[in-house]
Amino acid sequence: MSPLIDMNSLSNLACDFIDDAYLESLLDVPAEASEVREIIAKSLAKQPLTVAETAVLLNADSPELVEEIFAAARQLKRDVYGNRIVLFAPLYVGNLCVNDCSYCGFRSGNKAAIRRTLSGTEVRAQVSAMVGKGHKRLIVVFGEHSRYSADFIADTVREIYSVKDGHGQIRRVNVNAAPLDNQGFRTVKEAGIGTYQIFQETYHHAAYAEVHPAGTRKGDYLWRLDALDRAYESGCDDVGIGALFGLHDWRFEVLGLVSHSRHLMDKFNCGPHTISFPRLRPASGVQLDERWQVTDDQFKRLVAILRLSVPYTGMILTAREPAHVRQELLGFGVSQIDAGSRLELGGYTEAGDAQQQVCEREQFELGDVRSLDEVVRQLLADGYIPSFCTACYRLGRTGEQFMEFAIPGFIERLCTPNALSTLQEFLVDYASPATRRIGEQVIQQSLAVMPDGVRKEELQRRLQRIITTPDRDLYC
Ligand code: SAM
Ligand code: SF4
Repeated sequence: MSPLIDMNSLSNLACDFIDDAYLESLLDVPAEASEVREIIAKSLAKQPLTVAETAVLLNADSPELVEEIFAAARQLKRDVYGNRIVLFAPLYVGNLCVNDCSYCGFRSGNKAAIRRTLSGTEVRAQVSAMVGKGHKRLIVVFGEHSRYSADFIADTVREIYSVKDGHGQIRRVNVNAAPLDNQGFRTVKEAGIGTYQIFQETYHHAAYAEVHPAGTRKGDYLWRLDALDRAYESGCDDVGIGALFGLHDWRFEVLGLVSHSRHLMDKFNCGPHTISFPRLRPASGVQLDERWQVTDDQFKRLVAILRLSVPYTGMILTAREPAHVRQELLGFGVSQIDAGSRLELGGYTEAGDAQQQVCEREQFELGDVRSLDEVVRQLLADGYIPSFCTACYRLGRTGEQFMEFAIPGFIERLCTPNALSTLQEFLVDYASPATRRIGEQVIQQSLAVMPDGVRKEELQRRLQRIITTPDRDLYC
């Protein structure tokens, strides 16, 4: 353990549950078609897969079996999640960083990086601009630095919730920041955060040590691996895990993510709320190691296999990926995407152009630079319902007591109506005429296939209220 970390700050019964040799022993074993099909059937019955079963799917590389895995992922996505896609955007608050992660534009060794921390006033200006585009959910992102303490993060979150602009307001603030100790997690929980995301980056110990220099805070593998255990212990039962694909064998990382998910499930009776699978992007001053680069085909496979392994966990695909990759992967089980994202600090108001560029002010290069309105329109055209819903979190429907998708009929009763009313808000308040036109059609089509009854009537009343009055934030 690094001298920078106090051993006593780890969670109760903290342990390193990643056994590299075991995970490696599961890979490169020829897969029997009959076994692959049995495992797919288990997943379609909505049962989470074990690490060993996930490995069998990873080992299935004949074109025929890969196609069966894709088809199953598409079906599971439809059965469990329906056709909603939740939208959010990132807000980069500060890029000071004490770490030197070799892949990141914010790393301390990148002297070309322009360092900046937004003031409270600047945060409010960014949030106003985001609200003005129609955003309701955002994720605040920080480097790791003593300045970005739990109190600072909590104050930033409160600042964001306090911004009101016209009909709009941010209703859910998720966080992507450094691991905290127990007290830190309690502090941010009190500020009303949504999900706290921490990515392990790579689960492979040697690869982890290679990209996170010893002696830095992030150089301590266990402090990071144990972080979300501390979050649960401290009452943050809404957490997100992730791996940065491109640092080690993609199949190993999938096994790491599934191991992490099962560890949280075993210890806290509740798995992670979301899984992220960012793919390494070019970044300022970063030399990418080509060895572990993940091709588009491998990326498709890993998303489909993750979908099958953790049927009830939300999956996030960010604008690191280009539009065409995102479009295709939505069908495989992705449930959340960001849109209209700006990665440079102050980027929502101090607009540079929206062109793709590697810039000293960004953490890495974006792949999809379309506006929120464009993304919403494309989703609608592709048959999805863009959703800004935050109802569960605001009604306390999180954590162990509540596995939203596990409850039969939940989507029809709550998710679809809430998705439609938040879409209606977007169409009335922010959409371009072209987006509004197609959005209204989708709402009508969705109503047409909804069974008649009290729920449908209530939804119709809510939609009408949004169109004819200033009333907003109507959910069930
Ligand atoms: N500093 C905190 C940390 O490292 O956990 C949180 C913020 S960090 C800016 C958010 C995530 O960005 C990291 O966890 C990493 O997975 C991802 N990231 C860093 N460099 C990247 C790159 N070049 N391409 C894609 N994602 C990257
Ligand atoms: Fe700092 Fe996070 Fe970037 Fe590492 S990934 S250099 S900790 S901002």
